[in-house]
Amino acid sequence: MIVILSKGAGAHDKGMICSFLQERGFTIREQLLGDDALISAAGKGGSADDLRELALLPGVERVASTSRPYELASRETKAEDTIAAVGPVKIGGARISIIAGPCAVESREQIMETAQRVREAGAVILRGGAFKPRTSPYAFQGLGMRGLEYLKAAGEAQGMPVVTEVVSPELALQMRDLTDMFQIGARNMQNFELLKKAGALGKPVLLKRGPSATIEEWLLSAEYLLASGCRDVALCERGIRTFETYTRNTLDISAIAVIKRLSHLPVIVDPSHAVGIRAMVPSAGLSAIAAGADGLTVEVHPHPDKALSDGPQSLYPSQFERLMRDIGALAPVVGKELFRAPRPYLQDGGGRPGKPCQSGQRPSELPVAYSGQPGAYAEQALLRAFGEEVRRASYPSFAAVFDAVLDGSAGFGVVPVENSLTGSIHENYDLFVRYPDISMAGELKLRIVHCLIGAAGAAEDTIQVVRSHPQGFTQCQDFLDRYPWKREIYYNTAAAVASLLEEDESRKAHTAAIAGEAAALTHGLNIIKFGIEKDPFNYTRFVIIARKNGEGRAPVPPSLGSRRPDKASLVFSVPDTPGALYACLQIMNDRGINLSKLESRPIQGRPWEYLFYVDINYPQTDEDFTAALEALKPKTESFYFLGAYRGAQ
Ligand code: PEP
Ligand code: MN
Repeated sequence: MIVILSKGAGAHDKGMICSFLQERGFTIREQLLGDDALISAAGKGGSADDLRELALLPGVERVASTSRPYELASRETKAEDTIAAVGPVKIGGARISIIAGPCAVESREQIMETAQRVREAGAVILRGGAFKPRTSPYAFQGLGMRGLEYLKAAGEAQGMPVVTEVVSPELALQMRDLTDMFQIGARNMQNFELLKKAGALGKPVLLKRGPSATIEEWLLSAEYLLASGCRDVALCERGIRTFETYTRNTLDISAIAVIKRLSHLPVIVDPSHAVGIRAMVPSAGLSAIAAGADGLTVEVHPHPDKALSDGPQSLYPSQFERLMRDIGALAPVVGKELFRAPRPYLQDGGGRPGKPCQSGQRPSELPVAYSGQPGAYAEQALLRAFGEEVRRASYPSFAAVFDAVLDGSAGFGVVPVENSLTGSIHENYDLFVRYPDISMAGELKLRIVHCLIGAAGAAEDTIQVVRSHPQGFTQCQDFLDRYPWKREIYYNTAAAVASLLEEDESRKAHTAAIAGEAAALTHGLNIIKFGIEKDPFNYTRFVIIARKNGEGRAPVPPSLGSRRPDKASLVFSVPDTPGALYACLQIMNDRGINLSKLESRPIQGRPWEYLFYVDINYPQTDEDFTAALEALKPKTESFYFLGAYRGAQ
């Protein structure tokens, strides 16, 4: 039996719960599972009444009594996804985390070079074997402890945690301080002494599936780790043995969905060992992401043809870079965000100290502002960009979000600027013009899947009124055209959903709202129909906003990584003379600067005059960028620089 403690349970509550269980003959053990505190109780003690009483004790969230062989790993015990933490890197939830590096550490130079290449491409954990379990005793066995030292040094040089395989219980303790995560290899999945020892050392563990292990056996091995006190376990599907011999193993794609149903643990997929053929690794990796994997572990070598192990399946760095771009583009389709390396909050913008905001706190210590209510799309975007633990503050309008960031009550804000079906959100472009001290600091693309939401009893044939934000109505036009429903406009989709709770009982079956799944879950309402937007390629581009520092730059949100900007947004108008816009575009053309967006929009109060919204690819150097802007400004009538930032894929 497992007792899941509530978040606010204190030492006193815990003491009462433990005594209650011990008095009834249970042997107990306290432990952590992700962020949840649990007490596992073994024994036959306790009547049904006792168990009911236990569930009512202060500090008890839930009592789970599962009948399956694995309890701690089971989703019945813990319904929410576990997010495993490897140093500052998280695995699981709405993010995709990529581990990359060579099969084996071969030399200091080799691991340093690989670390740099994979980090630049966006990997967040560095892998590399030092103790290699090779099928043949004559094959390269790894550099041992020396290899670990090189791996650790390369990880430190790039600010990346490292993962390496541990092959014996004796080595686990020796290796502890040289790795951030243990890998238990496929051949050792059922080395129970190793599982117990590695699990007890307080390090995260990546548990590979044995080549002939069933999913249940794999979960039982994870149970060993959890039962030994390990709180950060990630499972790794790396292909199983089947009758097929063309590929090295057979990637069991369906295992991802099975694990997601049976367990709360995150799943990483290793396409390299699964397929064994370099050219096929990227497509296998992408298929795993599409199937719901929380990340990949990929073998990358600067010179795979010279690799001492697994060269044929190791990607060239350029192939890995391309794979990362493809994963970035695929992530929003499956409702996730590619996790970028968090960096310590060292600097504002260009490395110069920023003006302190009114509260005197750094932007990263303040809440993040969004417009709408809990469950709103903007809140989803915010969670993707900043992680689940971030403090967030909701405001009733976009202008209120800008105000909160300007006056320092919020460190960052998240606002939508463009939807792929309905175009630019002019209100926010206008706000950038009105708030010159606010800048774009990051970008995020969120897939928008609209649902028809209602209280119990509401169905398509009982509804008379439907509520949403105007964008919700426009994006679901085709679906709505089938019904004579009256439409009521709300300032936000989640607010439309919240309003259903206030509805008179007699009206509940007649009223519905259009919003995202998260809004229905937040307010405990039903999804009557899922996916009613007129096109599944429905994305909204959100930008992260921040207040400029004394140098006119915005701080980069720590979660977005430290990579240089690759995109900038401008708004300008041009004189009403022949060739005026052409002259502006020519400046970009002369400098080889690519435009990724050019939109014109009427200027209010000046019929037939237009503002241009322009996104450009950020040039090679800051100097090139400044020079381009300086050349551009005199050709325009009004000119606003909205920010330079790392663009979403
Ligand atoms: C490895 O990751 O280098 C490795 C040996 O993998 P597996 O245990 O899955 O064969
Ligand atoms: Mn390998």
